[in-house]
Amino acid sequence: MPQKKCSFCGRGEKEVKLLITGLNGYICEECAQQAYNIVMQTGALAQDQNGDGEAFKLKKVPKPKEIKQYLDEYIIGQDEAKRYLAVAVYNHYKRLQQPKDDDGVEIEKSNIIMVGSTGTGKTLLARTIAKLLDVPFTIVDATVFTEAGYVGEDVESILSRLLQVANYDVPAAERGIVFIDEIDKIARKSDNPSITRDVSGEGVQQGLLKLLEGTMVNVPPKGGRKHPDQDYIHVDTRNILFICGGAFAGLSTIIKRRLGNKVIGFNGTNDSAHDIDEKVILSMVEPEDLLKFGIIPELIGRLPVIVSLDELSEEALSKIMKEPRNSLIKQYTTMLAMDNIELEVEEDAISAIANKAIELKTGARGLRGIFESMMTDVMYELPSRKDVHKCIVTKETVEKGTMPILVTDSESKEKDA
Ligand code: ADP
Repeated sequence: MPQKKCSFCGRGEKEVKLLITGLNGYICEECAQQAYNIVMQTGALAQDQNGDGEAFKLKKVPKPKEIKQYLDEYIIGQDEAKRYLAVAVYNHYKRLQQPKDDDGVEIEKSNIIMVGSTGTGKTLLARTIAKLLDVPFTIVDATVFTEAGYVGEDVESILSRLLQVANYDVPAAERGIVFIDEIDKIARKSDNPSITRDVSGEGVQQGLLKLLEGTMVNVPPKGGRKHPDQDYIHVDTRNILFICGGAFAGLSTIIKRRLGNKVIGFNGTNDSAHDIDEKVILSMVEPEDLLKFGIIPELIGRLPVIVSLDELSEEALSKIMKEPRNSLIKQYTTMLAMDNIELEVEEDAISAIANKAIELKTGARGLRGIFESMMTDVMYELPSRKDVHKCIVTKETVEKGTMPILVTDSESKEKDA
């Protein structure tokens, strides 16, 4: 009788640990494992289990007010943006629940574009919404993409990442949220459609178009292409919510130019557009301004919800340091408490840090750096100082770089006496 062999790798019975018998052949444990990996990567199993993707159920979609309340717990300010997002997200998921045999009214997808300086909370907003809805979420940076064929990533790789975070559950990924950051960096360089193609910007925008409007994309799973035929995962992007974000430096100048003389008399004064607060200007953004900035019209058409974020004020930045669940001050307090030291950051020190961040134009993103450089010396010294039980950060610490005040046990005793 001929020796039994694995029909896939050809190894004989004695060379393998296990040989499973089929109708017309055999499979060894290693090939079975490999076959399993391929099945998981293609998502075929998930699709079968869920039958046409229908079984992937979204959690009950919260109402816009509930979404806003949830966002309030994590994000300071940005009320207008929260409202717009809450409504857009609610509508998006309502659309997903629309019965297929409805009377033919098709609710169109409402992808979102967020305009606001760096560190104002764009990514945080998108991430927090995804957490609330419990859907797969991924952040990609628009600057890493190039047109297909050039060095860099293809836009399709966005979907590979979404699949990865969804554990290759295709129906789940098909209802996920993708945040595309730095969308302003792929703007066309001039607002005249160029004769020569602009590889870095316009081509990528073109590539994004089809993903955003909804199409079937063949996604090569990350890692290995041992079996070319079975390699691609088919992902339908129709129900993926895309949120784009960017700082759009210089956009306010474009808006002002459009408003031009129209704003004379605004607020009953003779303000020209140039005198209006930057913050207010950005909230007046219209699709045509984005067009001027260099976003192609087709892409703007697929991003119907435009949300602008406010520059964070000193008050907002101060709140960010204190209030959110894992605020900076709470983090440092916990760290020092582990060495039995109490941390006090005086109110005017908090304001001074906020003002420094405003000067640096880094939004809330800069707060940690300022804090870190201010605390390094004490964090170095304190663990070896058994006599210190309190550390007070003052305005001088922030503005003049002096050491925070260290209160020792003997000082406290003197005070008490
Ligand atoms: P952006 O995407 O607008 O550049 P991020 O959302 O990445 O900014 O913000 C950077 C960090 O700053 C966040 O992780 C968060 O800690 C903090 N932050 C920014 N804006 C806010 C805000 N409005 N409320 C609370 N924290 C914020």
